[in-house]
Amino acid sequence: MTATHRVEIAGVTIGGGAPIVVQSMTNTDTADISSTVVQVKELAEAGSELVRITVNNEESAAAVPHIREQLDAAGCRVPLIGDFHYNGHRLLADYPAMAEALAKYRINPGNVGFGEKHDRQFAAMIEAALRYGKPVRIGVNWGSLDQAVLARRVFIHASRPEPLDAAAVAREALVTSALESAQAAEHIGLGPERILISCKVSKVPELIAVYRELARRCGYALHLGLTEAGMGVKGIVSSAAALSVLLAEGIGDTIRVSLTPRPGGPRSEEVRVAQDILQSLGLRSFMPQVTACPGCGRTTSTYFQQLAESIGHWLQARMPVWRTEYEGVETMDVAVMGCIVNGPGESRHANIGISLPGTGESPVAPVFEDGKKTATLRGDNIAGEFQAMVEAYVARSYAKRSAAV
Ligand code: SF4
Repeated sequence: MTATHRVEIAGVTIGGGAPIVVQSMTNTDTADISSTVVQVKELAEAGSELVRITVNNEESAAAVPHIREQLDAAGCRVPLIGDFHYNGHRLLADYPAMAEALAKYRINPGNVGFGEKHDRQFAAMIEAALRYGKPVRIGVNWGSLDQAVLARRVFIHASRPEPLDAAAVAREALVTSALESAQAAEHIGLGPERILISCKVSKVPELIAVYRELARRCGYALHLGLTEAGMGVKGIVSSAAALSVLLAEGIGDTIRVSLTPRPGGPRSEEVRVAQDILQSLGLRSFMPQVTACPGCGRTTSTYFQQLAESIGHWLQARMPVWRTEYEGVETMDVAVMGCIVNGPGESRHANIGISLPGTGESPVAPVFEDGKKTATLRGDNIAGEFQAMVEAYVARSYAKRSAAV
């Protein structure tokens, strides 16, 4: 794959070999300033490096500068992206403070009007980006594909001796819509270093095919995401399946995981899933990883599952503090294993690991640090003692940030 153009978004670099950026989107009413500020902060604190908000009407457009001010006042500098459909050309013209406060504009070429209006309104949005010095994402979506482009592709293929099937024609229309829109933006004066592209669909094989084609045909920075991935395990697995194939091929510069949250569930789950995908592929490190065995007939109690879970939660709780204090702690690998079969071996491979006793084994838990056995824990407080050892390991093994600057 050829390297993509590097796009700078208010201090965040996307593309051109930069680390893959995690982004997310709020689901609050943007006009509700306080709720939106709270959720943007939640997403940013979870690690979202860009946050998109919908700008769908005059009230939300008027709210954007206040949201930016309140985030700045709270020390939250995460760049905000405005998501525009249908009326973005007008809102960007009528609300200059909003146009200024946003770090990037998302434009869906399928939702900027039809015919001559389409071209005029699309051009108005690109001109706003030029006026305010902002990059744009040309964000094409399967559910709102530009019908004029689709009709043209259908006509072209129907007249060929061996026409493509309907799905292939639709894929071709998606890619064409994105690339023609990007070229139109360049024609108006926006450089390729200010353009990102996405072509989101909701089916994994389709997404993979579309992005391979995009990567083959252009050098724009690519935003990856499976749209409408769904809820819970299904949404996580589908997103991971689609994004992992593409990321492993070097395709994609920024990702978003579009999960439907559980009622009352945290919006930031989509950030953690995106981070886990990147960390599982070895592309970035965000959190110490817990390597835990699945358990089997050798572990008839749930003790080691509880320990693995409690260590995982404890690491998550400690991480915000460690991140500010220690360089590189997010790369730490902690093993929590269930018995002697793979326990000592896997624990030796981790930075620090514990091998719990399986059924019928002596009730002791050896601890390994950097491949060497350093302690044998026993009794009722194995979890507490192990956490204390991890805390000491972090303090000993990772450079203090104050000393590093
Ligand atoms: S390490 Fe032991 S308990 Fe865990 S899955 Fe392997 S055999 Fe089972």
